Amino acid sequence: MSGPRKLFVKSYGCQMNVYDSNRMADVLAPHGFIETAAPDGADLVILNTCHIREKAAEKVYSELGRIRKLKEAADRSNRHMLVAVAGCVAQAEGGEILRRASVVDLVLGPQSYHRLPDLIDRVAREGRVVDTEFPVEDKFDFLAPPSREATRARGVTAFVTVQEGCDRFCTFCVVPYTRGAEVSRPVAQIVAEVERLAAAGVREVTLIGQNVNAYHGAGPGRAEWTLGRLLHRVAEIEGIARLRYTTSHPADMDDSLIAAHRDVPQLMPCLHLPVQSGSDRVLAAMKRRHTRTRYIEIVERLRTARPDLALTSDFIVGFPGESDEDFHETVTLVDHIGFAGAFSFKYSPRPGTPAAVMADQVSDEIKVERLARLQAAIDRHQAAFNARTLGMTFSVLLEKPGRHPGQLVGRSPYLQPVQVMAPPDLIGEIVAARIIEVGPNSLFGVLDEPLKPMRPQRAALAVAGA
Ligand code: SF4
Repeated sequence: MSGPRKLFVKSYGCQMNVYDSNRMADVLAPHGFIETAAPDGADLVILNTCHIREKAAEKVYSELGRIRKLKEAADRSNRHMLVAVAGCVAQAEGGEILRRASVVDLVLGPQSYHRLPDLIDRVAREGRVVDTEFPVEDKFDFLAPPSREATRARGVTAFVTVQEGCDRFCTFCVVPYTRGAEVSRPVAQIVAEVERLAAAGVREVTLIGQNVNAYHGAGPGRAEWTLGRLLHRVAEIEGIARLRYTTSHPADMDDSLIAAHRDVPQLMPCLHLPVQSGSDRVLAAMKRRHTRTRYIEIVERLRTARPDLALTSDFIVGFPGESDEDFHETVTLVDHIGFAGAFSFKYSPRPGTPAAVMADQVSDEIKVERLARLQAAIDRHQAAFNARTLGMTFSVLLEKPGRHPGQLVGRSPYLQPVQVMAPPDLIGEIVAARIIEVGPNSLFGVLDEPLKPMRPQRAALAVAGA
C-alpha cells in the first residue's frame, strides 16, 4: 500500500463501540492509515454505529447525507474517499444500507473488524461490499495490538473487551441479534492485553462486555473462570491501580463477583447494574429473569461486601403494558436503592424484537410524563449523593488538562469528574483531593498537602439507604 492515508472513525453509543473503533484504527495502522480528527480530507471514513437508541438507523442515514457532500468534494479534487458503515446498525440493516445510501462503499458487522484491510482491497477490486457474517474464527486472534504510542495517546484509562454478545434475549433488546451469541475471551489473551496497556502507562482498566458478568472465559488448563476470578488476576498486573467492569445483568451477579467487591481493593466502589423496571409484572414481560426483590437482595449483598459502593442503573419507562401501578413501583425502587445516578429512556420498539409487536403499547404522552417524574427522582438522589462528597477527601486519577490553565481533570472512585489545580506531570497519578465545591457536572477539589500519590484505597462514602 502507498503513503500515509487519513482515517476518520466516528463512534456512536456504548464503550464497546469506542473500544471497537480503536481496534479498527489499530488494525489499519500497519496498512498506512493515520487517524484524523475530522472527516474532511479523510481517505477512509468509518461510522461505527449503535442500534440501542431510538431512530438509530435514521441518524446514520442523515450523517451519511453530510458525508456524501464531503465525498463529492473529494471527487472534485481527484481524491477518493472510501466510506464504511460498521457496528450494530450495519449488522441489522446489511445490504439495505447500500441500497439507500449510494455514498457507502463498505458495510461490515462487529465480528468482521479484523478483516478490514482485506475488505478495503476487495472494494478496490470488486466495488461495494457487505460483510455481516458471524465468522467462525475469533476476531481477537487476528486484531493487531495498538502501538505503545497509540495507547499512550489514548490516555491513562482504557477499555478492554472480555465478553461479547448475549444469550439472554430481553424482549426489548437488539443486542442478541446484532452482536450474536455470547462469547468470552480466554484469560491469557485478556491478561496479555492489560499488560501491554499497563506497560504503556494505563492506570485504570474497565473490562467491558454486553453482559460482562456472564463472563466464562477459559483459564489455564481450560477451566472456565468467572468475572470475579478474572478481576483478581487482572488486579495483580503491575501498574494497574483501578478496575471497573460494565455492563452487568443482575441475574449474573454470582458469589465470586460479589466477593471481589470486598477482596479486590483495585475494584472501584461504583457499579452500573441495570434494573430496567421496579415492577415484577414488567420485568417478567421484559424476560429479565430477576424480580424486584431479587434485585434488592443482590444490592444488599453487594453493600455488605463493599459498604461504600455507589450504584447506577438503567430504566425503561412505558414498556408495553406498563400501568400506573407498575410505574409507581419503579419510582419507589429508585427511592429504596438511592441510586447515585441512572440513565432512563422512553421505551421505543426495535424492529425484530418481541416487545415491538406486544399489545398495549403505551402512548407517547404517558411515556413523556412518566420519564419526567422518574428523572426528577433520579436527579434528586444523584444531587444528594454528590452533595455528600463536599469536604471529603478521596483518590482521584488525574487524566488530562482541564478547561482552565493550570487545571487538570480526573475521576473520583465514583466516576465523577474532579477538577483540581495541578501540574501537568501529574497526569496518570492518583492523588488525594479534598472536595471544596460540588458543581452541576463536576466536583472541584484541592490536592492534599503535602502532595502524595496514593495506593488504591477504599473511599469512605457510604451510600446505603440514601
Ligand atoms: S442482558 Fe442486556 S444485552 Fe442481553 S438482551 Fe438483555 S438488555 Fe440486551
